[in-house]
Amino acid sequence: MLATKHAAQRSAIKLSRQARLRRSEASIPYRLASREQKPENTLVKINNEIIFGGTNPVIIAGPCAIESYEQLYQIAESVQKSGAQMLRGGAFKPRTSPYSFQGLKEEGLKIMHRVGQELKIPVVSEVLSITDLPLFQKYVDMLQIGSRNMQNYDLIEKAAETGMPILLKRGMSATMEEFLLAAEYILNRGNPNVVLCERGIRTFETSSRNILDLNTLALIKEVSHLPIIADPSHAAGQSVLVPILSKAALAAGAHGLIIEVHNNPKKALSDADQSLTLEAFNSLMLHL
Ligand code: PEP
Ligand code: MN
Repeated sequence: MLATKHAAQRSAIKLSRQARLRRSEASIPYRLASREQKPENTLVKINNEIIFGGTNPVIIAGPCAIESYEQLYQIAESVQKSGAQMLRGGAFKPRTSPYSFQGLKEEGLKIMHRVGQELKIPVVSEVLSITDLPLFQKYVDMLQIGSRNMQNYDLIEKAAETGMPILLKRGMSATMEEFLLAAEYILNRGNPNVVLCERGIRTFETSSRNILDLNTLALIKEVSHLPIIADPSHAAGQSVLVPILSKAALAAGAHGLIIEVHNNPKKALSDADQSLTLEAFNSLMLHL
């Protein structure tokens, strides 16, 4: 009697699971980004040497903003020695205040290109405007779309049309669905080279800059085939939290990390509080 009842319950659960699956198949709005569309992981390659989405996490490190050739070279040489595979650095900075350092712009991209060539390390930088895309095509290996531009669909589509790999950061108030739909704009333009980046979201909590949403990172790995990395620096807003968030993100399955590192954080022109020293980054790499 009891066995029959359990069997009936089991089949009811099975049926409702199938019904749920059918419903989600019909209603998943991010079609190209979904695992239903493509069950296997997408691998995004940079210069045929770095692979996002495989078993080895990719570590990107560098300053928030490029400040000079000497600054970038010193940081790049050190983070590369510590094991970083890619160099980050902003040349066009989307600062919250118009009075803050806005970046070295084209000069910054030229510096980044030179350092990348000299040290043979691929480089990624944030593009803010469609008109700057030709410059980025000339000087960087990967385009970064920042949190503030995740829903700037015109920019995203034009960036996609370059065919370059794109690091798409999650909008600070974007839901998972909005994030994946932004990626969908890139895929829908015929560019499959999208790496997602969870960089922390805004909540009621004010004790840290943002909250690193590892729930969504883990969930995205279930529902999407796209690689996803984490940015513990912009999530934390303070360097002391960066090592623990880095380890937590990798434990949650992140395909890599993007970390802000500076040769003299106290003097950094942008995001000083969250930047790791060269030594702190090296020590973090030894413990990942
Ligand atoms: C950055 O990477 O320096 C940056 C501005 O990040 P976000 O767009 O996540 O704020
Ligand atoms: Mn920054």
